[in-house]
Amino acid sequence: MKRINDLTGAKTIAIGGHVRPDGDCVCSVMALYRYLKKEVPGAQIDVYLEEPPAVFRILDDIEVIKSEFNTNMCYDVFFALDCNEERLGDAQPIFARAHRRINIDHHISNAGCGDEHVVEPERSSTAELLYELMEPSLVDEEIAKAIYIGIAHDTGVFRFSNTSPRTMEIASELLKFGFDFSSLIEATYYEKTYLQTQILGRAILESVRFMEDRCIVSMVSRRMMEFYQVGPKDLDGIVNQLQAVKGVDCAIFMYEIGTLTYKVSMRSNGVVDVSEVALKFGGGGHVRAAGCTMNGTYHDNINNLSHEIAAQLSRARLREQV
Ligand code: AMP
Ligand code: MN
Ligand code: MN
Repeated sequence: MKRINDLTGAKTIAIGGHVRPDGDCVCSVMALYRYLKKEVPGAQIDVYLEEPPAVFRILDDIEVIKSEFNTNMCYDVFFALDCNEERLGDAQPIFARAHRRINIDHHISNAGCGDEHVVEPERSSTAELLYELMEPSLVDEEIAKAIYIGIAHDTGVFRFSNTSPRTMEIASELLKFGFDFSSLIEATYYEKTYLQTQILGRAILESVRFMEDRCIVSMVSRRMMEFYQVGPKDLDGIVNQLQAVKGVDCAIFMYEIGTLTYKVSMRSNGVVDVSEVALKFGGGGHVRAAGCTMNGTYHDNINNLSHEIAAQLSRARLREQV
């Protein structure tokens, strides 16, 4: 697929993204919604996504998102964005039923799903890839804004190594629409509530380094979340702060999602391929940012992850010696 076209005749279209949607996911879904409204006027376009973090309420049309998935609809086309089929969560059966299933993603761990897929791991974000697939004349200010915020979120505001010359070219094309990029990034990426800041502080304070200080780990329990009155969406960014510690090759952050069940986030400076580590535990992601869900005690999980990370670090050491 070179462009999102050839949708003539499609009367019902659905768009979905991954569970616990992040900025790239929410913005890609919303950019595609706006785009399809123009590309296929008259078609019914539904968006299925878990409730996005409140900061994304600044996006136009965000209220169209359906977070109730009990439908028997058989869509003509279903777009799965920023994930593979498994991570669509409750939207997975709706995707499976659709006549034409299209997957657009940038995760190296995704081999592609559905009838047609465009998976480009070298892309900074799904938003960037989506922009390349759009007919330029149909891109308007609202679409540009969503694409820009999506790219900014997945690149850590154009800072991570997934930022390419093309990413910056696209950002430059988008800025020409004249939206207030500065306050959008401030409001969706940097600004934190007081309680979010407190739990960030607590997680940093309780972090522990191990493996000759090359790894760092921290955990937030359900009791802590209750105490600070925060939910999973309030924990974004903690793992990035841990990775920023000098000398750390790999940062791990976990939060409890159920009894003996943890959502794990990992970040790396490139020495460790955390996508490979996450894949071993049924998750995935990118070389420098990946995640998975693990069962077991906090300490068992650290032990299991450490085993994989240590193997990679010793291979890296061997390479250094050659
Ligand atoms: P997170 O740590 O949740 O921010 O995720 C880091 C990166 O890994 C993001 O690109 C996620 O989309 C991806 N990721 C997180 N969890 C999983 C998972 N269970 N399976 C596949 N990819 C994941
Ligand atoms: Mn994502
Ligand atoms: Mn992404």
